[in-house]
This record gives sequence, structure tokens and C-alpha cells, in this order.
Amino acid sequence: MRVLIVEDEPAYVDALRVALASDGIESEAAMDGRDGLLRFREDHFDVVLLDLMLPSVSGLDVLRSIRKESQIPVIVVSAKDTEADVVSALELGADDYLTKPYSGRELIARLRAVARRATAPSEPAHALSLGNCSLDVDRYQLVVDGEAFDLRRKEFGVMSLLMERAGRIVTRERLLDEVWGIGWGDTKSLDQHIRRLRRKLETNDDAPRIVTIRGVGYRLED
Ligand code: CA
Repeated sequence: MRVLIVEDEPAYVDALRVALASDGIESEAAMDGRDGLLRFREDHFDVVLLDLMLPSVSGLDVLRSIRKESQIPVIVVSAKDTEADVVSALELGADDYLTKPYSGRELIARLRAVARRATAPSEPAHALSLGNCSLDVDRYQLVVDGEAFDLRRKEFGVMSLLMERAGRIVTRERLLDEVWGIGWGDTKSLDQHIRRLRRKLETNDDAPRIVTIRGVGYRLED
């Protein structure tokens, strides 16, 4: 695996490259956004690790440019106080994010996860299932290990979006826009729908879980 690190703090970059190398992961580093884009275009990488706070071209602008050209997995890195940027980055097509400070272990686990998803054959869009759980599109039912639960329309909408993007974060904004309609939903009713879905999933120990990513959204985990 080859990783492009776009990060302007030299001490951070050095530590990262050592951690990656010890796990057999090759990396290249770019110290600002412009250099990051140049290297991205010149060379082949499997994953981009992109700091959002960068000189010259911002991380979000780098991400925007990358997404015009490629579906390469991108993990964005943020400081604790820039949650709004994380949401924007996920909306722009980032695959995952890390908040500084993060450990080398955590980084490597995330890198491997996004790289694996990128190379996995994609399932046909109508086959909405994950683990022992599936959605019956015609009956508006969630089927957990053979047991069927009737869903309300919006519960169904939330669950299908989470399943389509299983293992990845779906932002609250996206859920509200796509399920309720832009400007219609509110986080309180979204929370209620998530709670109802969780109650159904929790009837089975092996069912996927809906994990809350605080301040950002949700992720369905197998
Ligand atoms: Ca930085």
C-alpha cells in the first residue's frame, strides 16, 4: 500500500512515516496543498491522508480537486475544534476522518479499512443487506436473522442510507436532506428514528450496530 500524506507539520510527518514504515506501508509526504495535488497527479497512491489545515491550498480545496479526478480513498485529519470542516469534508466525499492527536495504530487500522473497501467488489445497489440483516424494499421491512420488522417510511430511508454506506460515516445533514428533504427535518426526529432502529437491531446480538459519531453523524458497523 502506498499512502500520500499531505501535512504541513514536519514533526508529525516524520512520526507518521516511521509508524507506517514499521507496518510495511510506503508513504510520500507533501508539505502543502499545492504540492499535495502535484504529487497526487504525478504518482500512484492507494490512499490519501489529508490534513485540513494547510498553507497555500486548503485541505477542503485539495479534496474537491481530487474528487473531480478520482475516487481514491481519502482520510481527512482535523484539529479538535474544526468539526464543521469534518462535516464538509465528508460531504465532499472523504471516506473517513481522524482527529489529532491520533495513534499510529488507529491510523493504520483506518488506512487498511478504507483501502479494503476501495478494492472490494461493489454489491449491486438493490441488494441492501449487511451481515444477518437486510431491507425488504417492497414491504418496507427490516429483516434481522429471519425476523421481520415493519418500518416507517423515514426509518426505512435512514436505514437504507446507512446500509448503502455501511462502515462509513453518514452525516446528519445528509440523512436529513435525503430522507426528510432539504430544510424539512430536525435532529430531534432523526434521533428518534435512530433510537427506533436501534431497538430493532438490538434484538439480535449479531446484528449490525448504529454507532454515533458525535457532532457529525452515524455509522453502521457489522
Ligand atoms: Ca496542519
